[in-house]
Amino acid sequence: GHAKRSHHKVVFYREELNQHSVQRLSLMTELRGAIERDELQLLYQPKLNISEGVVSKAECLVRWYHPEHGLVGPDEFIPLAEQSGAIRELTKWVILTALDQHLRWRSDGIDVQVAVNISALDLVDNELPAFVSEALSKRRLSPSVLTFEVTESALMAEPEQAMSALSLLSYMGIALSIDDFGTGYSSMSQLKQMPVSELKIDKSFVLNLASDQQDCILVKACVELAHNLGLSVVAEGVEDEASLQILKRYGVEYAQGYWMSRPLKPADFSAWLEEFSHQRTPA
Ligand code: C2E
Ligand code: MG
Ligand code: MG
Ligand code: MG
Repeated sequence: GHAKRSHHKVVFYREELNQHSVQRLSLMTELRGAIERDELQLLYQPKLNISEGVVSKAECLVRWYHPEHGLVGPDEFIPLAEQSGAIRELTKWVILTALDQHLRWRSDGIDVQVAVNISALDLVDNELPAFVSEALSKRRLSPSVLTFEVTESALMAEPEQAMSALSLLSYMGIALSIDDFGTGYSSMSQLKQMPVSELKIDKSFVLNLASDQQDCILVKACVELAHNLGLSVVAEGVEDEASLQILKRYGVEYAQGYWMSRPLKPADFSAWLEEFSHQRTPA
């Protein structure tokens, strides 16, 4: 664009400022108040322990129910929250909501550990470790109920900063997981140094596992790498029984995907778990 001087301010007129970016800008502004207006909701997707056939973990996935636009997905608004800085507040809301839900389930006799997605910007939020520690102790919860998922690309954006943030969180007893593995560019030596305990294979390698020989080779290689580094493996995007069987054969510890369940509201999660455990009870 070209610059124009007006009232001592340089204003940029950009051709790209089209309808789309105007919409993004207004969403970005509205997102700031979305938490207070109670427009965000957390859904929970089961992580199946493949060898034991039980579910004791869930990933927390945020949704925004916008009063006019309806459901806005995280792939659309998380990047906006990151750009505006609102992500820090959002992440804290997600953590508190997840811990409260964990407690509610526990009082119903259900033990579900919760995994929360953390952005690159959260890793440079100096307040986060103390915030988490206080949230846990207020609820008399062990840090072991909580996992943070960080994408491979977030880790590799600022590997050294990420490393020191993760070291502190891991020292506190929070489990750490590398999300969307295979889509970033981490090296073996960087991976080896990261204080993580779990690697999540990106769904793009898992969705067509049963029909794609190349995906099988890639997944198998990821599993071998993870196990050699002492990490457990989660496959996300498991959409059919055949893929689940392949993952089981490869020694993958956890499966997450529509074949087991879509992300669910808390009450639906409890109902799903009840049904699932019932099915698994031997006759
Ligand atoms: P993710 O952390 O990799 O989460 C997995 C995504 O895959 C979720 O999409 C989930 O609904 C979807 N998924 C699960 N199983 C299947 C399947 O079998 N097939 C297919 N096609 N998809 C499946 P969702 O909920 O739309 O979230 C998208 C991304 O948004 C997440 O990817 C995560 O990066 C981000 N996100 C979601 N919630 C949060 C949050 O609270 N904070 C942050 N920072 N990011 C979040
Ligand atoms: Mg995740
Ligand atoms: Mg993922
Ligand atoms: Mg993803």
